[in-house]
Amino acid sequence: MHIKEIYKAIYERLDTLTPLPVDCGKLCGKLCCQPSEEDEVGMYLFPGEEALFKGLDGFRILDSEFTYKNGKNAKLICCTRPCERSLRPLSCRIFPLIPYFRHGSPVRIILDPRATICPLTHPEASPYIECEFKREVTRAFRLLSRFSEIADFLDALTDILDDYNKLRGYDHAL
Ligand code: SF4
Ligand code: SF4
Repeated sequence: MHIKEIYKAIYERLDTLTPLPVDCGKLCGKLCCQPSEEDEVGMYLFPGEEALFKGLDGFRILDSEFTYKNGKNAKLICCTRPCERSLRPLSCRIFPLIPYFRHGSPVRIILDPRATICPLTHPEASPYIECEFKREVTRAFRLLSRFSEIADFLDALTDILDDYNKLRGYDHAL
């Protein structure tokens, strides 16, 4: 199966799953979903995911400064207007969770230490994040991490997560 089809299948499985059983965007005013015309305001795409967005109106894809696998630039997706729910990139679907991965160990899913704007990352709120949502995100990244380029990307991303955790002085295990 081509990687594009795998992303589509993952999107479908995550389509109806959200961090809370209610629309958390209504609670916080969609803090994590603010389309912008500014450059460099966006979300990372996971390797190969850009194939789903080529030529789609409302999105721009740029090379980010984040590199992995001998200097390969990760792609950043910037949205200039609210997208259709079925088109959301994986980073938006899993927020505020993120895969934590080191070569040789299985993926773990943690609260993204960069997601400080999200009220669900507060210690009192995080236990209410839906188990089924966490399970499906874990399933998705256990599958994706079998692809060597994605595994390299996740390992490099984990360096960033470690740096944030060190800066903030705590870990975001779920
Ligand atoms: S910032 Fe957090 S609580 Fe608000 S919409 Fe995004 S995921 Fe939900
Ligand atoms: S891509 Fe869609 S879900 Fe993600 S921030 Fe932009 S409008 Fe929101």
